[in-house]
Amino acid sequence: MTIIDTLKRWAGEDWQVRDTALRRNVRVLGLAAWVLLILNVAHVGVFVLLRFDDPIRDAWARQIALAHGGMAVVAVTIAVLARRVHGAAELTRWHRGLPLVAAVLIIAWAIAVTVIDQAVTASVNAYVNAVIAMAIVYLFRPATALIVLTLAWAGLAGVLGWMVSDPAQLATSRMNAVTATALAMLISVLSWRHFVRTELLQRALAESNRQLQAQRAELERLANKDALTGLLNRREFERQAALELARARRLGSPLALFILDLDHFKAVNDTHGHAVGDQVLVEAATRMSRSIRQTDRLARWGGEEFVLLLPDTGCESASLLAEKLRHAVGDAPMPGMGSSVTVSIGAVVARGDDLPDWPVLLRMADEALYQAKREGRNRAFVRCLKSDRSSLAKNETR
Ligand code: GH3
Ligand code: MG
Ligand code: MG
Repeated sequence: MTIIDTLKRWAGEDWQVRDTALRRNVRVLGLAAWVLLILNVAHVGVFVLLRFDDPIRDAWARQIALAHGGMAVVAVTIAVLARRVHGAAELTRWHRGLPLVAAVLIIAWAIAVTVIDQAVTASVNAYVNAVIAMAIVYLFRPATALIVLTLAWAGLAGVLGWMVSDPAQLATSRMNAVTATALAMLISVLSWRHFVRTELLQRALAESNRQLQAQRAELERLANKDALTGLLNRREFERQAALELARARRLGSPLALFILDLDHFKAVNDTHGHAVGDQVLVEAATRMSRSIRQTDRLARWGGEEFVLLLPDTGCESASLLAEKLRHAVGDAPMPGMGSSVTVSIGAVVARGDDLPDWPVLLRMADEALYQAKREGRNRAFVRCLKSDRSSLAKNETR
């Protein structure tokens, strides 16, 4: 990959993180402005009190105090504006400009202080501190950093040339400023690239986490559902049935288990084909689902057999519901067939106090189904265990 390619890639990445960087700059600016204010106030405090015999030094101290006083006002303004921008939902043009304008103001002020300092020292400390602090605290795109820092140095070098008459002092000041500027540029580029890589990595991670969660949810859904009808599958039904059984036992509430088997379904396949058979299974499932409550559990047991668990359901309600289901499935013609398909239902109803174990309950429902088939199909046989019948009136909820 050539340098041009790398720079192009970086430019693309810079664009993606631009708003995040801006918000981060505004946050930092809000804090940094207060730190700057404290420093300004401290400087004003010190330099206002300083007195010298030498009028040049006296004037210098007052100018420094004035510069810091002025900057204190600017710092407060920046802090207030940064707070406003920080709270903004949308970033406007002037929001985007705030960190840059603040940076330029601070550097310009540092240049002014450096120039004032030349009256008593050859040091360019104020400038050095400002550009290095800016590079550490701010996230500037490398191109922006290059422009700001180059202009800053050029500005300082120019004003120094105008103010400083000693060529040696001028040269050392300018070259010290060059070193600080180059260092600031290096720090700025390194911290920008670090920020971009971390930010993009975090986003990629968040995205893959989101995808993983979606996949897991889909897998869970698929693991619990029958692929053709969308009903619960056998495994999930048994899991939920065990919970319902335990609950019915604890509360002593009645519970009904149905096995529903489509009649002569083999003939449907043989006459209309397997695809229509599938369609009929889906339709039968839909019709049954519409006839039950949300708290009832309907599942595809396998083939053309379905199971239905009805919590809080006694003998009488179970018998009524069995009839309702029989009509729901069998009354209207099935799509793709032009005729209807009937269903036989075997049911067992028991009460929590002496609910048999799950395998016994299943066997009883299966026996009831067998009886419904034997007696001619398209009928329901509901077996009510004794204790349920006796206390039916008390707990009937359906
Ligand atoms: P009965 O009234 O005694 O229940 O007769 P039946 O024909 O319904 O019962 P049998 O057990 O003889 O046949 C069940 C048929 O269901 C046979 C099988 O091809 C069909 N079947 C099972 N699963 C599916 C399925 O997923 N799709 C389709 N189209 N047919 C299925
Ligand atoms: Mg059948
Ligand atoms: Mg069957």
